[in-house]
Amino acid sequence: MTRHHPESLSLLEFSAGNLSEPHALCIRLHLDKCTLCRSRAETLDSLGAVMMERQPKVSVSESMFDSILAKIDESPAPQRTPQAGPKISILQKLLGDDINDLPWKHQLGDVSVMDITEKFPGQNERVVLQKLNAGGKAPTHTHKGNETTIVLQGAFSDQNGVFNQWDFVVLTDQDEHKPVAIGSEDCITLSVLSAPIKLTGTFTRMLNPFIR
Ligand SMILES: [Zn+2]
Repeated sequence: MTRHHPESLSLLEFSAGNLSEPHALCIRLHLDKCTLCRSRAETLDSLGAVMMERQPKVSVSESMFDSILAKIDESPAPQRTPQAGPKISILQKLLGDDINDLPWKHQLGDVSVMDITEKFPGQNERVVLQKLNAGGKAPTHTHKGNETTIVLQGAFSDQNGVFNQWDFVVLTDQDEHKPVAIGSEDCITLSVLSAPIKLTGTFTRMLNPFIR
């Protein structure tokens, strides 16, 4: 089963407290379910502590630092042990008990959305929940900026692979994709958008909430 994890740099920024609140939420949700990334984060924390301690004597060159990060990224993935029961307290706190019961706004076709940006006052990014009905397809679209997404429920696939619950996806303006919900559940994702996306397919003229 394909697994998609945050990059080491994102984990470093997270533990340094440099991420915006919505981005930190995505990392926190992933770490909560992914033993591999928890162990990567611990390694990075130790590395950071050692570097801080030795800073006056040892300088780590950028290339050395990159190679350390690359090694951490390459390390073999331990089996991710499924958590017992749906422990989604962070989400429950933010969105209530059942994300399926939210006041979803039907967008078009199989896609519903809910903008939760207002739950993150003072942040510049847009935070959006998206729901793709089981078996449904989203229109082809590209992104003007970066979009960080975590799968909260169900799974989807696009040309980059299969993304399951708690998988982490970062898309840039170079990516064009057309997600399809797979499996028997509606696929629900949480996305942090640093710039609006633009539609490129058949539905271009239909208003997309991200374009407004
Ligand atoms: Zn992970």
